[in-house]
Amino acid sequence: MTTNTISAAHPRRALLSGWGRYPLSESDVYRPDKIAELQAVVTADSTSLIARGAGRAYGDAALNDHHRVVDLTRLNRMLSFDATTGLLRCEAGVTIAELIDVFLPRGFFPPVTPGTRFVTLGGSVAADVHGKNHHRDSSLASHVTNFDLMVASGEVLRCSREENSDLFWATVGGMGLTGVILELELRMRRVESAYLDGELIRAGNVDAAIEAFERIDAQYGYSVAWIDCNSTRSALGRSILNVGNFATLEQLPRNLAQDPLNTMPKLSPPVPLDFPVVNSLTVRAFNALNYAFHREKAAHTIFDWGSFFYPLDSIRNWPRIYGKRGFVQYQCVWPPDESRAGLIELLEEVTRSRRASFLAVLKKFGAQDGLISFPMPGYTLAIDFPVTDGLLEFLDTLDAMVLKRGGRVYLAKDARMSPETFRAMYPNLPKWQAAKAVADPGNRFSSSLSRRLRMTE
Ligand SMILES: Cc1cc2nc3c(=O)[nH]c(=O)nc-3n(C[C@H](O)[C@H](O)[C@H](O)COP(=O)(O)OP(=O)(O)OC[C@H]3O[C@@H](n4cnc5c(N)ncnc54)[C@H](O)[C@@H]3O)c2cc1C
Repeated sequence: MTTNTISAAHPRRALLSGWGRYPLSESDVYRPDKIAELQAVVTADSTSLIARGAGRAYGDAALNDHHRVVDLTRLNRMLSFDATTGLLRCEAGVTIAELIDVFLPRGFFPPVTPGTRFVTLGGSVAADVHGKNHHRDSSLASHVTNFDLMVASGEVLRCSREENSDLFWATVGGMGLTGVILELELRMRRVESAYLDGELIRAGNVDAAIEAFERIDAQYGYSVAWIDCNSTRSALGRSILNVGNFATLEQLPRNLAQDPLNTMPKLSPPVPLDFPVVNSLTVRAFNALNYAFHREKAAHTIFDWGSFFYPLDSIRNWPRIYGKRGFVQYQCVWPPDESRAGLIELLEEVTRSRRASFLAVLKKFGAQDGLISFPMPGYTLAIDFPVTDGLLEFLDTLDAMVLKRGGRVYLAKDARMSPETFRAMYPNLPKWQAAKAVADPGNRFSSSLSRRLRMTE
């Protein structure tokens, strides 16, 4: 380990939250722009510290109430790229949006992307994010060959499947708790165009949605369903599936084929103020209109990459529609043989509760490696709930339903799960704890999430 000649820069005191704006917490925030500065912050004292990327985790994963937070967004240089292999090396503060800006015009796209491009790669590896192609391509970690991790001693360790492999597997999905990812190597996907050739499929209920996912599974690499969670009885779970593959030049109409890799996503004006428009009436109306808007017969469509992957990114500050109290996104997954029953049971509970939600999204997961990464084969549902009285107790009820079917809840979205539920949902926790204890014996890397869930106990 080298000795520090640079002292830790002065932190600023800040009130932070995740994307759901619940909970809020106050921390000392450091924003180093050199590795040596970061090292000084990590080793300056032994009090708790957690890395933060773009702050897009919904709950308390990148919060450290009354402790230290280190913002990695200035460590964002691209280091090397090999166009023959697609291998890119870059610092962890680079965002997926930046990757797309630089590499899509050259015919490369990130191999896995979450539903927003405004996330850092460090945060995406730490949450081991999944995209609409998990059933085909698994999570982000499958496309990361190695990364450099600064551990609590300030030492930097190269981690891969061959080198420090225990630490590699504890860090992907490990929510920043093994150290700070400094840089990583990622295999980008070659694409012929910036468009997707796909379909919009209307499904009348849960069974029709699952049948559609299974039917298109082999044909389409990307799939997602937007569920109307106000529908009931025989229409419970009616949804619009959005499926596609990157279009080849032959599949594009002539006007797009002339400039296949050039497209700018549109941004709408931001939501100006906290404007709580989400209530059971507006949500019911929105869901009904959205469903009716789509034709019954599947419509073949060419999508641009922005509207296919990131429909929410076009509305800046959209969490403001939930008002000042914020919202919680509940994302769970069930194993394959429990998915249908679990989905029906949970949607029935949600409709019965009349807890408004615009956004409910269903995806199919495939194979998954990792210790505490969220995905497992099966179906995953994500629903937004505005914070209202009784919400936390209601979500405990959902937890019990998911747990009894062998499912689990996603840490990158969580803000309220109990330590007992977490422990039961993540059976590989002891293996993860063993690797964490080797890299961070003093538990220097901890967060509001890790303390709430007692992840190291
Ligand atoms: C609109 C929207 C859609 C989303 N869709 C999806 C989706 O489809 N699939 C999915 O999987 N997720 C999804 N997410 C969640 C998001 O992808 C993850 O929460 C991701 O971790 C956010 O990255 P970030 O850079 O904002 O990290 P932050 O929110 O800042 O941090 C997240 C975690 O990463 C850790 N971390 C950050 N940087 C580093 C680093 N350099 N080294 C070590 N640890 C670090 C933090 O400590 C924290 O635990 C979505 C989020 C939003 C807002």
